[in-house]
This record gives sequence, C-alpha cells and structure tokens, in this order.
Amino acid sequence: MNAGVLSAAGFLFLLAAAGSHASERTSRPSPPDATTRPASPGPAQTRITFIGSGTAVPGADDDTACFIINGNFQVDCGWNSAINMRKYALDPLKIQTLYITHLHHDHYMGLPGLLFYRGMNRSNPLAKVPLKIVGPADDLPVVVDLSRRFLQADRFPEVWPAVEIKGIEPGQTYETDEYRIQTVKARHPVTALCSRLTDRTSGIVIAFSGDSAPDPDLATLAAGADLLIHEASIGPKTPDDRMGKDHSRAIDAARIARDAGVGRLILIHLPAAQREPSLSAAREIFPSTELAECGRSIVLKK
Ligand SMILES: [Zn+2]
Ligand SMILES: [Zn+2]
Repeated sequence: MNAGVLSAAGFLFLLAAAGSHASERTSRPSPPDATTRPASPGPAQTRITFIGSGTAVPGADDDTACFIINGNFQVDCGWNSAINMRKYALDPLKIQTLYITHLHHDHYMGLPGLLFYRGMNRSNPLAKVPLKIVGPADDLPVVVDLSRRFLQADRFPEVWPAVEIKGIEPGQTYETDEYRIQTVKARHPVTALCSRLTDRTSGIVIAFSGDSAPDPDLATLAAGADLLIHEASIGPKTPDDRMGKDHSRAIDAARIARDAGVGRLILIHLPAAQREPSLSAAREIFPSTELAECGRSIVLKK
C-alpha cells in the first residue's frame, strides 16, 4: 500500500471520527442571536489573548493575526502558535478547538508545529483529547492531510496527535458545549468565514472578520456583539477606487463596528507601519477602537 492510499484511509477515518463526536453540532443558517445567556453557572467573563497581530510575514516579535479565547479555543494558526502560547502562559495542549477562518497560508502556517507539539506530548492526558480542527469544508481537509504528510505520520505515527476534522460551509453554525459560532461568507478570494462566537458560559459575544473586504453581512452578523476583531490590512489612506476585493482598511472596520453597534473594536492583521495611522483613522468613525498586540490579554465581562 503506498503512502497516498494510507493517507487517504487515515483521512477517511478522521472524517468518520469527526462525524461521531457528540459534543459538537452544525446547522444551516440561523439569524444572529444577541440574547444568548449563560447555559450554566460560571464566571461571567471571557478572556481573549492575542498571540499574533501582524501580516502574512510577521516580524520577530509578532506573529500573523491569531488569538485564543479562554485558553481553549484558537482562532487561526500563525507561524509560531505553539511557541507563542508557551511564551504567553497558555498551554497548547489545552486547546480544544482550532478554528481556521480560511486556508490562506498565513492562517495555517503554524498547524504542523502545533500538531507536532501535541504529538510529542502524547503521554500528557491533555494530549489524548482530540483537537477539533474546524474551517471551510472545501479547503480544510486538504491542508490537514498535507500537514499529516509533512510530519511523515505514516512513517512516524507517534508524532501525529488525536484530531477531529470538521468542515463547515459559510452560513452554517458550529456548536460545542461551550461555544456557539455563527458564520457568513467573507469577501475574500478563497472560501472564508466571518464569525460570531457566543461564549455560553459568560454570554459574551465576539465577532471576527478573518480576512475580508468590507462585508455588510458581517455588520448584520455582529449586531450587538461585545467585541469585533476586524482585519485592517490595507493602508488607511487607500482611496475607494483603489480598494481591491480581498481586504479592508481600518475605516471599513470602524464603519462595520458602528453599523453593528458593537461594544469595542480591535484592529488586527496590520503592517507595523500602518498601526498608528490606522488607529487614528478608525477612531474618527468608531472611538472605542484599539489595536491587537501580540501577548496582550483582555477580559470581557457582562
Ligand atoms: Zn486570506
Ligand atoms: Zn491573512
């Protein structure tokens, strides 16, 4: 049996495993739910830690846009995700869900490293819990399988951790016991998700754009969210007629935050030279705007 056949067989097994997991559900589109309340008693707060804030090729002290919610839910996987988690007092083994907004390289560059880290720590009970990897259904399985091949998992099965793959389509809702994530299609050249995450324990709602040109559907999805994390990878002075169809300026993010009536806006995925001018431009439209900073945590409370 050649490596390709082995790989495909293993992959089908993973898909079967994903379908059988009881604590997650997906469903077709439903309207944003701004009234979700905690399903169980617990501290009414949600912590977000940014382990990357930069562009596709990050600097030495930053990483590509990437953040962790409550230490167990990771959004996108920058180059140095596993190492940065350790740097900022987070444990890569405690990540239960890796949610990848889309499969452009900068959003999954750290995936083999994260998987290798978990595989090499397989004796730790935390590593025995399968990592749920969630993202666009058309591209996610290919990238996970390529990571598996990259790590030579057929030859060295011990380096491959327990994972469950869950592909979703824009418009679907993905749910775990702890979170509810509603999605719409981003405006981007590949299938990409704009998302609204509700922390069931705290009731806190966080919306995030992933990579997207200005998307009115995100303004609708994000209505009333406590926080919007929006990309601003295009320079603030780019005129309207020079805007492409792939990304947003800070002023576009600010308009969506204003239209959605969110509590706070955090700009992410900015080149270093554009951080301050982008912040100033956004605050003229939406004053409660901040910049994502690698290593910074914020706590949202009801
Ligand atoms: Zn992208
Ligand atoms: Zn990107």
